[in-house]
Amino acid sequence: MDLETISRGECWSLEHAWIHIRGIVQGVGFRPYVHRLVRERDLRGTIKNTSSGVELELEGEREALERFAAELPERAPKLAVIEELAVEYADELKGFSDFRILDSKTELVRDTLISPDICTCDDCLRELKDPADRRYRYPFINCTNCGPRFTIIRDVPYDRARTSMAVFPMCPDCDREYHDIENRRYHAQPDCCPDCGPKVFYLDGDGRRVEGDAIELAREALKAGQIVAVKGLGGIHLACRCDDPEIARTLRRKKQRDEKPFAVMCRDADCAAKICEVSDSERKILESFRRPIVLLKKKADGLRHISENRYVGVMLPYTPLHVLLFGDELDMLVMTSANLSDTPMMTDNDEALANLRGIADGFLLHDRDIQTRCDDSLCWVLGGAEYFARRSRGYVPFPIRTERALSPILACGAEQKASFCLSRGSYAFLSQHIGDLKNMETFDAYTGQIRHFERLFDIQPRALACDLHPDYLSTEYALRRTEKEEIPLIRVQHHHAHLAACMADNRVSDKVIGLVWDGTGLGTDGTSWGAECLIGDFNGFERFGSIRPIPLIGGDLVTKQTDRVAFALLHDAGLETGEIENAALYEQMLKAGLNCPLSSGMGRLFDGVAAILGIKTRCSYEGQGAVLLEAAAAEDDGVFPVVLEGSPLRFDWREMIREMVSLQNRGVEPSVLAARFMNTLIEMAVLQCIAAREASGISTVALSGGSFQNMVIMTRLPARLEKEGFRVLRHRQVSCNDEGLSLGQLMIAEAAIEREKQ
Ligand SMILES: [Zn+2]
Ligand SMILES: [Zn+2]
Repeated sequence: MDLETISRGECWSLEHAWIHIRGIVQGVGFRPYVHRLVRERDLRGTIKNTSSGVELELEGEREALERFAAELPERAPKLAVIEELAVEYADELKGFSDFRILDSKTELVRDTLISPDICTCDDCLRELKDPADRRYRYPFINCTNCGPRFTIIRDVPYDRARTSMAVFPMCPDCDREYHDIENRRYHAQPDCCPDCGPKVFYLDGDGRRVEGDAIELAREALKAGQIVAVKGLGGIHLACRCDDPEIARTLRRKKQRDEKPFAVMCRDADCAAKICEVSDSERKILESFRRPIVLLKKKADGLRHISENRYVGVMLPYTPLHVLLFGDELDMLVMTSANLSDTPMMTDNDEALANLRGIADGFLLHDRDIQTRCDDSLCWVLGGAEYFARRSRGYVPFPIRTERALSPILACGAEQKASFCLSRGSYAFLSQHIGDLKNMETFDAYTGQIRHFERLFDIQPRALACDLHPDYLSTEYALRRTEKEEIPLIRVQHHHAHLAACMADNRVSDKVIGLVWDGTGLGTDGTSWGAECLIGDFNGFERFGSIRPIPLIGGDLVTKQTDRVAFALLHDAGLETGEIENAALYEQMLKAGLNCPLSSGMGRLFDGVAAILGIKTRCSYEGQGAVLLEAAAAEDDGVFPVVLEGSPLRFDWREMIREMVSLQNRGVEPSVLAARFMNTLIEMAVLQCIAAREASGISTVALSGGSFQNMVIMTRLPARLEKEGFRVLRHRQVSCNDEGLSLGQLMIAEAAIEREKQ
């Protein structure tokens, strides 16, 4: 012990710690948690919310302080996300005598993160089912550990007055809980009870209120085979029984949903296991507090009326209203977004009553507004974690962490699976699922959400990024806005953005080989690309490989009339096309070069092969051919010949088509040929990557683009590449389809801005 320490007398063992925590630490029960921990450790001091998180000043013995700092993240509330924890120790003491929560009302809390919506927690579920509890069977029960967040927030700082709970003043009982640090509802902004909170009600098909227990009425209607609109967290669903194909058909017809699969809500994971295969990791994701729709393999061939492909999307109840609706009587329900064709999911009571007339036989609604639309998230489980088709409710608006700090940029995304991305510091805030911008309501939702995110996260973009495609409405928006605000616009090639998104998703910034396979995207040469092998990074790329372009007879028509692609493939391969309807017309168009743009889209190759094999010749939605081809594939290891030539190194698929048709003519099953087709693509990809590695010395491969939603390819290709010595990057936090693209645009724009500075 040195002299100085001794001279500090009896306080020699006490120290002062300043602890700053960044992340989701507000509105998630963090301060009460700290309060408990402080008491256990016999520490004194203060805590306050700051503009970037939470700040603690504590005094006590050094060992206790250190243990406290170590334990803090370990036992933190479920919803808290600690991004960063900084501790500084000092000898100077302030002499705290107790522990206090300081008022943070005057602070501008714009630099914090906002929690996504979270499913009902176990404590609330227990109370919900307890007849002695004052919230017994109350469909809006929540606490600091659960309930709505993102979907009810209008503005920040996050408090009740700035949410759609503002119109429900707390009763004295709720207010007491709210102010009691020992209570689970301490500072739970959406806290409410039957006396003071929202109310649920039931209306018949004509929009007339029906007296009685709204939830019972809805359940009875469902049991009787009716279609009921149910208001959830981020939007309204249409629900019906899923054991009756006739009811599902009626819903499909009324909703104009043709053949797209429906999602199913199951009472619990055991129920899901009755209709699907559920692995341990799938069960974990199903039951996680984010409650995404998980795509599970169907058992046998049941539920064809729900999903025609190999998978069915299953989710578990995530609001108290869902839990009560299922009661003890229902096991599973179709739960599909209430919308018409491709318009956004409905969120508003009046809108639902007006637009669902003749579709819904009843309406289970309530008087809490949905401030922000947020569709259900949709994912597969791959390697024990989510592999997203759609990242939305339960995940958004939690940001993607980037390797280094970024300038404030808005990336405008693509068009069909539109999303946008905004950056602040080392965070990239990716929007929720928005939909197809070609639809006017969707485009309005898109611009509205951009404004909402900019306000919530206090971001004023200094540059915008968009796609090269001049016809995308997101491009048009970016052009208009950058002109008006006189800020730079960085235009990013579609597949380059995919590659960059996958890099950012994996926090990689070194050059990679990027296999980017999707439906279509405008290339730098003005043609449509989509089965690309790129070499590049955020700064640029080279098109190393691709596939032989396919003439799209009739342009955009081919995405639905996929037999046009079949004709083009067969014709180009020098094969018989006579059996295809309108063959003579297609032949003429090809000869004249009339509206036959060339495309190297992987989606088109899938469509064409699905049509040749007779699996699907007319598609009712984009990508249907690929999905059904995957579903049809048998277990088979055969491979067709792979011909690669030229620069860029193109896969000439003609030899594959010839071999495929020859086997087909000899009676080989389409299921076998479908499997061999995918195996061939995998081998083709491996050969392209090997050639790219020889040319560049790079041995990391990033997989991105919507075609990597094919689980046959996603389970086999990474393993094949790894066997050849490659490191494989795949998407983890964002979708591989166009929804994830805005993240890549943003990273490329940031790199361009950086280069400009130098
Ligand atoms: Zn709760
Ligand atoms: Zn109350």
